[in-house]
Amino acid sequence: MQNITILGSTGSIGMSTLDVLARHPERYSVYALSAHSRVEQLAEQCSQFKPKLAIVGTAAAQQLSNLLRAKNLRTEVAYGEAALCEAASADACDVVMAAIVGAAGLAPSLAAARAGKKILLANKEALVMSGQLFIDAINKSGSLLLPIDSEHNAIFQCLPHGYQRQPAAVGVEKILLTASGGPFLHRAVETLGAVTPAQAIAHPNWVMGRKISVDSATMMNKGLEVIEAHWLFGASASQIDVVIHPQSVIHSMVSYIDGSVLAQLGNPDMRTPIANALAYPERIASGVSPLDLTVIGQLQFTRPDLLRFPCLKLAYDALLAGGSAAAILNAANEVAVQAFLDEKIGFRMIDQLIARTMDTLPLCAVTDIDGLLDQDRLARQTVQSLIS
Ligand code: NDP
Ligand code: MG
Repeated sequence: MQNITILGSTGSIGMSTLDVLARHPERYSVYALSAHSRVEQLAEQCSQFKPKLAIVGTAAAQQLSNLLRAKNLRTEVAYGEAALCEAASADACDVVMAAIVGAAGLAPSLAAARAGKKILLANKEALVMSGQLFIDAINKSGSLLLPIDSEHNAIFQCLPHGYQRQPAAVGVEKILLTASGGPFLHRAVETLGAVTPAQAIAHPNWVMGRKISVDSATMMNKGLEVIEAHWLFGASASQIDVVIHPQSVIHSMVSYIDGSVLAQLGNPDMRTPIANALAYPERIASGVSPLDLTVIGQLQFTRPDLLRFPCLKLAYDALLAGGSAAAILNAANEVAVQAFLDEKIGFRMIDQLIARTMDTLPLCAVTDIDGLLDQDRLARQTVQSLIS
């Protein structure tokens, strides 16, 4: 029996994780669940999964306690970042699903890494921000880091067992990250300034949280994934190519020096990578229907247009620049995306604000978490001041 902490259990990934767990009660039990605003949903999850611990933001703790008491549940309530870190590193927890969105997930994800847990990493922003610091923590503790992002999980499945972040050692030439192109792949570029948040989050293939859906529309999501792939697989920027594949059936590929290209295919449903990582190296049922290629009929591939998707170029630039650049990119993006969702700025302002923030802030080395958080703060302040 494995005991699981799900950080961000009320989100899209969190709910898909619980869906997979519910199919295998003999293998998994839930140690802790966490939410931010959806307190009633968290209380419902507690009734179904009976975790030892439930964590919310400070303001919601009393409300959660009341809801749990009304349901006669014994789940303990804790709140705040320290409680998230404790739930991610507790002795009683074996596996951590890191599915909080954005920089808010950094501290608990790092706590899990330091504590040597098996980490199922959905929270790509944490790895993009902290990069080498995160990998160092994993290496030091012997933690097993398994990617949940569908592309990275696909790549993980296409790499040899026991792969150690050295592409050349196993004959890898390139990592080919597939991208759907999002809702605006074919929309006239000059009309992008007028798109609404509702249009931006209407992803053609995946149902996801609001932030990552906007990231998919700008393709910053793919940019963050390029940086994520760099840290997970030890590949340089020039070894990672992005290929637009609108059907989202091939989740990514690995190209080897002998000319072989290995791909992982499946219906676009996050329960597949979640089940893969949960059971690794075994396989378990995920609830995802089998892929029928005869129904899909055609798979298409094109190169990304960087004029349409400037965020993708900004992310490559940040990866090449190194140091604090990725943390600045990530923080600027989080603030700009939230401002767009709040209808304070237009869609095309997202890439412009990120570019201006990256031009404004001097690059520096990132050697510890405090320095990293300073850069994160500085970038957020810079974007805010550009907006107001
Ligand atoms: P959602 O917005 O659906 O869920 C986010 C989760 O994080 C919720 O449980 C939310 O709580 C919680 N949360 C939000 N803000 C905070 C905060 N400040 N402190 C603590 N908890 C917080 O996002 P997704 O599930 O879509 O994405 C989660 C992560 O997984 C992201 O990093 C995303 O990039 C990554 N990912 C997602 C994919 C997907 O298909 N959805 C695919 C690949 C990667 P509440 O809901 O209660 O407010
Ligand atoms: Mg992805």
